[in-house]
Amino acid sequence: MNWEDFRHWGRRAADWAADYHAGLRQRPVRAQVAPGAVLAALPDTPPESAEAMQAIFDDFEQTIMPGMTHWQHPRFFAYFPANAAPVSVLAEYFVSAIAAQCMLWQTSPAATELETRVCDWMRQAVGLPDGFTGVIQDSASSATLCAVLTMRERALAWQGNKAGLAGQPRLRVYCSAEVHTSIDRAIWIAGIGEDNLIRIPTQGSNRAMDAEALRTAIATDRAAGHLPAGIIACTGGTSAGASDDIAAVMDVAEAEGLYTHVDAAWAGSAMICPEFRALWAGVERADSVVLNPHKWLGAQFDCTTHFLRDPEDLVRTLAIQPEYLKTHGADGIVNYSEWSVPLGRRFRALKLWFLIRAHGLKGLREMIRNHVTWAQALAARLDKTDGFAVVTTPMLSLFTFRHAPEGVQDLDAHNQDLVNRINEDGRIYLTQTRIDGALVIRFQAGAFTATSEDVATAYDVITELAAP
Ligand SMILES: *Cc1c(COP(=O)(O)O)cnc(C)c1O
Repeated sequence: MNWEDFRHWGRRAADWAADYHAGLRQRPVRAQVAPGAVLAALPDTPPESAEAMQAIFDDFEQTIMPGMTHWQHPRFFAYFPANAAPVSVLAEYFVSAIAAQCMLWQTSPAATELETRVCDWMRQAVGLPDGFTGVIQDSASSATLCAVLTMRERALAWQGNKAGLAGQPRLRVYCSAEVHTSIDRAIWIAGIGEDNLIRIPTQGSNRAMDAEALRTAIATDRAAGHLPAGIIACTGGTSAGASDDIAAVMDVAEAEGLYTHVDAAWAGSAMICPEFRALWAGVERADSVVLNPHKWLGAQFDCTTHFLRDPEDLVRTLAIQPEYLKTHGADGIVNYSEWSVPLGRRFRALKLWFLIRAHGLKGLREMIRNHVTWAQALAARLDKTDGFAVVTTPMLSLFTFRHAPEGVQDLDAHNQDLVNRINEDGRIYLTQTRIDGALVIRFQAGAFTATSEDVATAYDVITELAAP
C-alpha cells in the first residue's frame, strides 16, 4: 500500500469505525470464541507474496473481529473502563499518520509543549494545587515504577542506580492489602523485593490503611535496622474501590520523612467533579500522584498523567546524563524522556487536548456524575431484590454484590457460575472479585456511551439469569 491507496482505505476505515460503533449494542460484549479458535484460523506460515488489501480486510472482519471483546460497548461493566471518545480516536489517527518519536524537546517541540500545557490543564481539572508538575506516562504501572525508583534512590542518597542494592540496608515500602498488583511489580523490578512491601491492615467501610498500624510498622522496621523508603496510598482500589485516608497517611509520611505516591489510576478521573474530592483529601501533600485519563475520562489507551511535587527527584533518578540536571528548567527546555523509563515516547498529549476541548470539563463531569448516580441506583435496586445483597456499597460507580438464595451450599461456586452465565449470555459483561475471602460479583458503570437504560438492562439480565 502506498499513500495514494491509503486515501481509499483510510476512508473505508473511518466508515468501518462509525458502523462498528453504531452496531455495538447488537454484539455480545465479551468475545464468545473458544480458546485456540482464532489461532487455528490463521495460516501457519507468513505469506511470501503481497496480498490484496481487500483480502486482508475481509480476514480482519471474519477472523479477528469475532474474537474481540468490546471495551467500548455501552454495557461493558467489567474491570474498569478503557474509554476512547471518538475525538481521541481521531487524534490517535493523526498521531499515527505523523508517527513522530517525541523523546526530546527538539524531536518535536510541539509534542513537549502541548504535554506541558495539557498536564497543567489536567492538574487544574482535578483540583491539585499549582505546586504539582505533570508528565504523561504510558500507564499507571510505569508511573508507579517511576515513583518507587524515586523513593528508593532518595532513601539511598541517590546511590542505588550506581552501586546497586547489595550491602545496603533492607528498604521498606508500605501500602494496604487493597493496592493494585502494579505496586508489587514495581517493587520487584526496583529490586526491593516483595518481602519488603509491608501490607498494613485496613479498617472501615473505605477499607483504608490503619495509620496507627502504619506508624508501628515503620517504628518496628527502624528498630530492626531496616530503611523505610516510602508509602503508597490508593484512592479507588481495583477490587472494590478501597480508599486510604490520604491526610492520615501524609501525617505519618511527613513525621517519618518518607516519599509518598498516591495511586488514583481509576478514581482520579472523577476528581474533575469537586464533590468527589473529599475521597482523596490530603492528596495535595503527596510527592507523586497518578491517574489514568485512559480509563474513565475517554483518552484512548494509553495515556496516564503523573503529577509530581518535585520533578527534580524523578529526573535525578531517571535522567541518564546527570549533568543535564544543571540546565533543567533553566533554558526552558524539558526532555520528557528523562521523566520516564522508556526512552521513546508517543505523542500522547494530542488526544487529551482534543478530548478536553471537544467535550469540555462540563461534558466530562456530566458523564462521570451519571455513571455514579446510575451505579448507586442499581446497587439500591439489587439490594432490595430477594436473594441479592450488596457487599461493598458504591465507591463512585463501583460496587460488589452477591446472590445468596436460600438453600445454596457453596455460595462462591454459585456466584462464579452466575458470572459465567451472564458473560456467556453476552448482553452485559462483568467480573468477580473476593471481599474478605468471599467471591462476589463486581459491577462498575463507566462506558463513555452508556445510558441509564443500559444500566437498567444490567438489572434485568442479572435477575433473569439468577432466577432458578
Ligand atoms: C488500572 C489500575 C492500575 C494499572 O493501570 P495501567 O495504566 O494499566 O498500568 C493501577 N492501579 C489502579 C488502582 C488501577 O485501577
